[in-house]
Formats: sequence, C-alpha cells, structure tokens
Amino acid sequence: MKKNPLLPRECVLGIEPYQPGKPVEEVKRELGVARAIKLASNENPYGPSPRVRAALRREIGRVHIYPDSACFTLTRDLARYLQCREEEIIIGNGSNELLVLLGMAYLGPEDEVLTSQMTFVVYETVARLMNAKLVATPPRDYSYDLEAMARKISPRTRLVFISNPNNPTGTVVDPHALKRFLDRIPPACLAVLDEAYYEYADDSRMGPTVQWVRERQNLVVLRTFSKAYALAGLRVGYGIMPPEVKSILDRIRPPFNVNSLAQVAAIAALADQPYMRQCVEKTRTERKRVGDALTAMGFKAVPSQANFLFLQGRRAESRACAQALMKAGVIVRPFPGPYLRMTLGLEAENNKCLRAMRAFA
Ligand SMILES: *Cc1c(COP(=O)(O)O)cnc(C)c1O
Repeated sequence: MKKNPLLPRECVLGIEPYQPGKPVEEVKRELGVARAIKLASNENPYGPSPRVRAALRREIGRVHIYPDSACFTLTRDLARYLQCREEEIIIGNGSNELLVLLGMAYLGPEDEVLTSQMTFVVYETVARLMNAKLVATPPRDYSYDLEAMARKISPRTRLVFISNPNNPTGTVVDPHALKRFLDRIPPACLAVLDEAYYEYADDSRMGPTVQWVRERQNLVVLRTFSKAYALAGLRVGYGIMPPEVKSILDRIRPPFNVNSLAQVAAIAALADQPYMRQCVEKTRTERKRVGDALTAMGFKAVPSQANFLFLQGRRAESRACAQALMKAGVIVRPFPGPYLRMTLGLEAENNKCLRAMRAFA
C-alpha cells in the first residue's frame, strides 16, 4: 500500500497539542458570562514596567529592520546582572524554544530523557519529538523525588529536566540535595534546571545555580522574562550554559529568533529591578493570604514558591469544579485527579476566585 504522504514521522503522532488556558474572550462567548478573569497561565497580573512601555514606544518605528540576531545588548546586560560570561548566555523565543533546541541538539532514538511525573508537559513533548524514551519518576510530596531519579540514571540518559520551582505544584527541591543529585549525573548527560519561577522563590530556598554552571560542564539553567518580568506576550527566555553548549544551540537556532520589540523590552525590564521586585512582593503576599484562605475552606494548598497555588480538593475529579468556576467567570487549570492550579492574580481577582471556590471546598 502506498504511504500517506501527509503522515509525519511516527513519533510526532504521539504528541498531544499543548493546551493553553482558555482565552478570556472565548469563555465569555461560549458561556455567555459578562466578565471573566484568567488565572490559568501563570502570567504576571501587574503588567509590564513603565520603562518597558516607553522602550516599546521608542522601538515601534523601527520594526521594518531585522532584529540583532545575536541579541548583543541583552546578552551583555544579562552577563553583567548574572555575573557570568557572555559566551555562557543564549536568548530564546521564550525558554520553551531553548527546551526544544536542547532536544534537537542532543536527543536521538537511542536516548533517554529523565524527569518527574506531575511536571511541565513540554519535557515529554521534546522527548517524543525526538523519538527518545521518557523516564519519569513518581513525585514525592508533590515534588521531584531526586533519590528515585538518581536510581533511574542509565548509560542512555542524555537529558535530565528539573522544573524548580516546579510547575504545576510550586514546590522546590532542597539545594543541597539538588547539588548531590547533580554530582551523580555522568559527564555525558546534560542536566537542565528550568527556573522559570526563580524570582518568586525565597532566596534561601534556591542554590547558586548560575555559579554551578561554571563549576561543571554538563549543567544548563533556564530562566524567562515571561513571569516575574511580565513579558509573556513578547516571548523572551534565556539559558546559562557551558560555552560549548551555547555554540551548539547557536548552530540550529533559527536566525532572528528573538524579535526586536522583545529584545528592547527585556533590556528595559531587566534594568527596572525595583518594578520586578514589587511585583514579586505583591504576589508573595497574595500567595500567603490566598493559601491560608483556601486551607481554611478545606482545600489542601501545597506550599508554593511560585506565582500559583496547586490545590487538592475533596472531589475525585477537578474538571467539574474548573467548569463551574468558568461559569462564575474564573478560569483556572484542572489537572487529572482532584487537582487544580490557580495563578495568583490581582487582589480583587483572587477574591473573586475565592468566592467562587467556596462552593467546591
Ligand atoms: C512558564 C514556563 C516556562 C517559560 O516559558 P516561556 O517560553 O519562557 O514563556 C518555562 N518552564 C516552565 C516550567 C514554565 O512554567
């Protein structure tokens, strides 16, 4: 029989499309609710810094020019800020792009990707895309079980993905345990610490991971401007890695992968540290307040080091709860089982969500 010319590589058929939180407009239209708020995608509810807005206005008349493909200024500023070398930094179209590039560069059908269950779905997508084998250990106390993972390291393990703080549970791993775990990873295997929520964690809970990149040859740290820096719509993420790894990713990175508005916005956002810190402080205050309120209602709220809360309700399935919240105009993210993830929004948004959730505790 003739092969269907539209069929992709077989491994691609195993990939489910990424399910983003429903857009507000869609919910309003479909459910006929007048006002809806979205607490489903871990965005920063306070919006971009005034300095970012001004930088974007200045740049807008120049969008007929290709961006700087090397992201020279942003790379230089990040190197100063992080106290590392420019050769160690790569900028991506969101850190998601960097996850895909790492997979493309390092994974083949013989390789294994090691991670945890109950974590960021993109790690599995990257493994499947490259036809590599996914090895995911069960979580322990809603967090990565590093002991169990260490036992699963094999000669075929090529990439290890750790989301820290973890999406969707908000937990962090102990920095000493993390360092010991990294010590057990063989030199031929790359460890990727995805620190998308780094800024929201208490300083004492995070190790000096950027420094660790220098000390070992097989560690990559990924961070993003999408969360604490409030630039999710512009798509800028970055990685700190050994220069050898950067030069590999530079070979396969699409030209001009980070657009010019994204570059100037990220430069301005990085320069306005007080604004970012204010956003983080307000979210930390809400994290405590909303977490306590939900606990008082009878939910189990996993202690979070990120800008969202992971909740376990009494119901066996959270989908019905998420659906009912949507009718009340609140979009949250259900997970298989009795779990919900709620992004911490503005105080009034969180209060609206709390009122709607009271019915489901
Ligand atoms: C939000 C998030 C990212 C960042 O994605 P961008 O592509 O930078 O917007 C990366 N990893 C995790 C675990 C996230 O939750």
